[in-house]
Amino acid sequence: MKKDVTIVGAGLVGSLLSIYLSKRGHRVKIYEGRNDMRKGKALGGRSINLALSDRGLLALEKVGLAEEIRNISIPMHGRYIHHVDGSTAFQPYGKEGQYINSVSRATLNMKLMDLAEAQGVSIQFHSRCTGVDWQKNNVTFEISNTESLVSHFELLFAADGAFSAARLQHQLQHPKFNYQQYYIDCGYKELTIPPSVSGDFAMEVNALHIWPRKDYMLIALPNLDKTFTCTLFFPFEGAASFSKLTTPEAVKAFFEETFPDAVALMPDYINEFFNNPTSSLVTVKCHPWIREDKFALIGDAAHAIVPFFGQGMNCGFEDCRVLDELIDTYQDDWSQILDAYQTLRKPDGDAIADLAINNFTEMREKTADPVFLLQKKIEARLHEKYPDRWIPAYSQVTFSPNIRYSEALRRGLRQEAIMQEVMKMDNIAEQWQDESLLQKIVEQV
Ligand SMILES: Cc1cc2nc3c(=O)[nH]c(=O)nc-3n(C[C@H](O)[C@H](O)[C@H](O)COP(=O)(O)OP(=O)(O)OC[C@H]3O[C@@H](n4cnc5c(N)ncnc54)[C@H](O)[C@@H]3O)c2cc1C
Repeated sequence: MKKDVTIVGAGLVGSLLSIYLSKRGHRVKIYEGRNDMRKGKALGGRSINLALSDRGLLALEKVGLAEEIRNISIPMHGRYIHHVDGSTAFQPYGKEGQYINSVSRATLNMKLMDLAEAQGVSIQFHSRCTGVDWQKNNVTFEISNTESLVSHFELLFAADGAFSAARLQHQLQHPKFNYQQYYIDCGYKELTIPPSVSGDFAMEVNALHIWPRKDYMLIALPNLDKTFTCTLFFPFEGAASFSKLTTPEAVKAFFEETFPDAVALMPDYINEFFNNPTSSLVTVKCHPWIREDKFALIGDAAHAIVPFFGQGMNCGFEDCRVLDELIDTYQDDWSQILDAYQTLRKPDGDAIADLAINNFTEMREKTADPVFLLQKKIEARLHEKYPDRWIPAYSQVTFSPNIRYSEALRRGLRQEAIMQEVMKMDNIAEQWQDESLLQKIVEQV
């Protein structure tokens, strides 16, 4: 039976979900709080570009969009590390031919909205969800300061992001709703590296650039217009923190000392530092995600995570794909579909949240550490020699959509414990290529 489905939020996940559901013949309406970004700049918003990897691509492939999005993406084959002394190093992400993709958030969102509308989805903008009546199955949207509308739903999805209003309505009236929200002590600010004088990319284009500095880091992802969007992940408080960089002189002195090669490429960074917002980074875990056969949280509304594994959107896209597969399994029984969706996805949402927090330490501290780099080299060799028995944690998350996040976390922890012992061995730097040693390591998994 085809349903009247209401989705709150026409962000990346709400738009993709609407395509999946309308392809199955459901009548889908999205209500979006902001204006239509295709008709001018939408207010607010997050990172300018994102890393799209295999899980996200698989979900896009199922609706025929993967190729089109690949065409507007820039492959990034590894991390390009910038040390403070000006030296650089390249660390591949996986095996040859494996890469992640830098894509514009706005372009991707607009394409998804175009395709949704072409599929018959209706998107109503300037409609901010303010209330849900669970007895009458009505949802209220504020259209302006004086005007609101009430819409009836058969099935409601909250895809309205980390600070979901629809989740709040669910939470307020659910007697046993568990909710956990955790802000890390770092925020972020975006800066720009423009094209070089000759009009080309100012740095290696096919890489994700990182300036790891222990308590903080700068990263940069390429854009199609030959700029890079840089993001400074930086403590709010402390000796080196946003709270200390309050004058142009302080910003200049700090950047020149800490990121000298980046400064040379960012002519406007001081203005940008003061004009661009400083934003915070939150993890949200909650339960339950669903209400009978009528309601589900999806995307960041269900599992907001920090961006250090580049997986928030990928995970939200995977939610849509898994839900679609469950529709096949349980046909039109939405009680079973939503129940199975929550059972499968909640542990995976929790797992990627934890993996993402852990990866912050890896990116800002360890990518410059020679012991860690040797460990990664050994793991890459193990993967090459035993491709099914040893898959580095990063590859499991990024290049193996058939491995669940919860499984990647479990296996990753086991492998890390083994590697911690291996790295304590005398002369490991000399003997790590020994075949019998590699064999012994893999046998412990
Ligand atoms: C700095 C940064 C970098 C990131 N980098 C990556 C990356 O490289 N790779 C990756 O996979 N993920 C990344 N992410 C995570 C990614 O941005 C999110 O996971 C993704 O945007 C989630 O999509 P969503 O549709 O669930 O939520 P959102 O993108 O937040 O969309 C929610 C939508 O709902 C609308 N809305 C909100 N409230 C209401 C309301 N009350 N009524 C109606 N509409 C409403 C909003 O306007 C918005 O359009 C990054 C995040 C940050 C902050």
